[in-house]
Amino acid sequence: MERRVRGCCPLDCQDSCAWIATVEDGRVTGVVGDPDHPITQGVLCAKVRDYETRTYAPDRLLHPLRRVGPKGAGQFERISWDEALGTIAARFASVIETHGAEAIMPMNYLGSMGVLQRRALMRLFHALGASAIHGEVCGAAGLPIIEAGHPFGFDPEEIADSELIVLWGANLLTTAHHHWRFVQEARERRGATVVVIDPRRTRTARKADVHLAIRPGTDVILAASLGRILLAEGLVDRAYAADVALDLDAYAAEVAPWTAERAAEVCGIEAADITALARRLGAARPAVIRPGVGPMQTISGDAFVRALSALAILGGHWRRRGGGLFFLSTPRLDEAAAERSDLAPGPRRSLDIARLGQLLTDPDLDPPVKALTVWGTNPALIQPDVDTVRRGLAREDLFTVVLEHFMTDTARYADIVLPSTTQFEHFDVQGAWGHHYILLNEPAVPPLGEAKAHAEVMRLLAARMGLTDPALRESDEEIAAAALPADAPLSALRETGWRKASPPRPDLLAEGARLPVSIGLEALREDLPDGTAPEKLRLLTPKAHYFLNSTFGNMPRHRAAQKRPTLQIHPADAEARALVDGSAARVGDDAAALVVVVEVTEDVRPGVVALEGKWWRTEGGPDAVANRLAPARWTPAGQPVYNDIFVDVAPAL
Ligand code: SF4
Repeated sequence: MERRVRGCCPLDCQDSCAWIATVEDGRVTGVVGDPDHPITQGVLCAKVRDYETRTYAPDRLLHPLRRVGPKGAGQFERISWDEALGTIAARFASVIETHGAEAIMPMNYLGSMGVLQRRALMRLFHALGASAIHGEVCGAAGLPIIEAGHPFGFDPEEIADSELIVLWGANLLTTAHHHWRFVQEARERRGATVVVIDPRRTRTARKADVHLAIRPGTDVILAASLGRILLAEGLVDRAYAADVALDLDAYAAEVAPWTAERAAEVCGIEAADITALARRLGAARPAVIRPGVGPMQTISGDAFVRALSALAILGGHWRRRGGGLFFLSTPRLDEAAAERSDLAPGPRRSLDIARLGQLLTDPDLDPPVKALTVWGTNPALIQPDVDTVRRGLAREDLFTVVLEHFMTDTARYADIVLPSTTQFEHFDVQGAWGHHYILLNEPAVPPLGEAKAHAEVMRLLAARMGLTDPALRESDEEIAAAALPADAPLSALRETGWRKASPPRPDLLAEGARLPVSIGLEALREDLPDGTAPEKLRLLTPKAHYFLNSTFGNMPRHRAAQKRPTLQIHPADAEARALVDGSAARVGDDAAALVVVVEVTEDVRPGVVALEGKWWRTEGGPDAVANRLAPARWTPAGQPVYNDIFVDVAPAL
């Protein structure tokens, strides 16, 4: 008998699609986008359209495992849940007794965006008094303007009303293709112009009206120059800026040196194009400026976001529907409430998840991290300076638990691996970081093998450790209810599978907002590029079309579609290094290097090479883990600078 079950895609993607799974004879046989969901509109992306193959993959982890070989070697034996829980509880108790509860560190990110899969386990760690965690591996560059009170997003369905859409390092057709529909609608309804600013000719850049192939890391200079031109040509919404901008004079002073000509030299684009874009920004009623994470993940990333927010304010774009800055937009879902941080017995230190390698290898950290539990992230691939992370994970005195679907690069370092359910096997509710809908995920089938949902693991471990707070015994539905707003209760979600819960559109005038708009260029002085070509090539590591960060890196269809780790290089740079299309290149420096295949293409600008995707380390195969080359360096807000990598590229011998 066939059943159709409502759910949603759990992955770290701003589209958060609603889906409908088909179940026949107790097995999921297919999944499609919910045709009624206003964002999904019936379509799942190329990564997820056969998500059932991931659930039923032959290499899926279905039983608890205990390590029997060296850390990282991936040698495990099957054990029972009873043994796994007993081992974890005993090791946690021993760590607490010897080093204190802060020596236990939970580590999670957005591998599943579900409230239960991501947050429920935190109840256990809060109740134990483990170290709290903070930080971001992806969007920390946006935190300073959020903390300063700037608006940073709005309902994406409004983008259909924009006249100018500036996609700044945002490759929507790979990373958020449902948003592209609103871009197209804006073209049809408003005659909107689409400008893509990206060092690569991406899928999205090919569809733009204007593509500015900027030199990476110079985005903040381009933004400053746009501001200068707006001021000089009287294109600022003066009344609005006077009401909202707190330090317009300081802003004007810092952007003053950045004429179009000077910025053009630094940014590697034409001065006339900079002036034209500024005039478009000044004329649009309204414009939306939509940054991607690429330029945010450079040392000037925080300043870049500040500069874009200033442009949105100076142009008065927040005045109108469809206008403003858009890098994050969420429904009214209080995910943090589901964690119940109030369960903590007292104040604790907080550890930055974006510096895991440094934390695990810091001889002065007191107490040291002695027990690490990882879920929803794969730090042995996705953290910066991955070799240091791996060194930390390899510590014999570190007890590591990993909850996973597959034997990832991180799971290979675990002492105990616990099999997680996939999205078809558990209940969850979820928000989004790119729209305003809260989604329900009903289980389509029971857990495979001995896999368990993370809320269940929390309840079992809490009981095993003798923790008695009722919050540690709550049902899935009770945990979900803690996060849901009053106007989108579970009963409402069950009617359609989703419910819109928009926060109010930012109205800075009505709020009486007075916001700092200066960029902070002076503090960046030593890091600002000056237009001279560096000797090394700059390596970008953008997202792949068929992987989502490291998810799907083990799936045969996805790997086949993504082909192989490939370095895109401009013909001039290839010729200078005696590299030809299809040849093998060594990329890196004396400390770390990867061997990849070369694609000679004008899709990257000279001086830049690009390696798409978070490729898994393969047994005995070439190591193409790009983040081995990502430096241990962070913006002031704590964003790893994944795109500040400078490499030698040479034929592989
Ligand atoms: S990865 Fe993104 S676009 Fe693809 S199905 Fe999931 S939410 Fe939708």
